[in-house]
Amino acid sequence: MPHEIPAVPADVSAAGAGRFAPSPSGELHVGNLRTALLAWLFARSTGRDFVLRVEDLDRARAGAEAAQLRDLAAVGLDWDGEVIRQSDRTPVYLEAIQRLREDGRVYECFCTRSEIADAPRAPHSPPGAYPGTCRNLSEAERERRRRERPPALRLRSEVTEYTIHDVLHGDYTGVVDDLVLLRNDGVPPYNLAVVVDDAAQGINQVVRGDDLLSSTPRQAYLASLLGLPPVDYVHVQLVLGRTGKRLAKRDGAVTLGGLADLGISARDATAMILGSLDLPGTLPEALAVFDPAKLPLHPWVFEPPGR
Ligand SMILES: [Zn+2]
Repeated sequence: MPHEIPAVPADVSAAGAGRFAPSPSGELHVGNLRTALLAWLFARSTGRDFVLRVEDLDRARAGAEAAQLRDLAAVGLDWDGEVIRQSDRTPVYLEAIQRLREDGRVYECFCTRSEIADAPRAPHSPPGAYPGTCRNLSEAERERRRRERPPALRLRSEVTEYTIHDVLHGDYTGVVDDLVLLRNDGVPPYNLAVVVDDAAQGINQVVRGDDLLSSTPRQAYLASLLGLPPVDYVHVQLVLGRTGKRLAKRDGAVTLGGLADLGISARDATAMILGSLDLPGTLPEALAVFDPAKLPLHPWVFEPPGR
């Protein structure tokens, strides 16, 4: 029986959908909210639905999801349909892996992290790429190693790089290696889950931080092997703290809660974030004039107000 992953749910707008997909590891900060506002603006300005997904396979802190949804609503975002949680969807990920397995694209990997770091590499092998150690183990060798540790599952990739198109970055070519499809603790990694979920939610526009640009070719290649429709990518700049590094909680009052303590309302915070995008201060006004070509090209350095 063929394994089918639903490509487009029946109830998604004909234009498709955009999304925001936070990890519930803590409160959203101004940088996360800015990415969420941009994702909403890109989606709504193109007639798309806007959906939310909670990426809780790795890090989930009690109460964080509810706080994040509350903050997203507080900056004026609305979303369509139900919020999906990745921790509910393991069978769907396993089904996708099974499809790849039936196509002969999956193999077991017994390497530890340090074995991968120390493994001999081809001269031009890109840094961080899996060196292919377990690609061609004999059945006897696999049998022996299964007794030592549970295997991870890896993709038998037929390419070493793949090109995607990004609305802001243009064509972008990046490394594709034999990426992990299932970790040896049984948890599917981000690269697999994100691809399966985007398709399942009818998402055809992915707006997210540009720290994820370099892993996008892997995801797009994986999607192509699963027969999933391509998506439009928009990798937006991360907000920086005053140290010049990516904004983080240690930078001070960077959450709506922290700003509220200083007398700055969610409405003011929203106006501040939209202002950093050269947009007017409310979401409806910003949507009315939103034009990706006019987004500022310089990064935004957020200086938390002092007490
Ligand atoms: Zn291995």
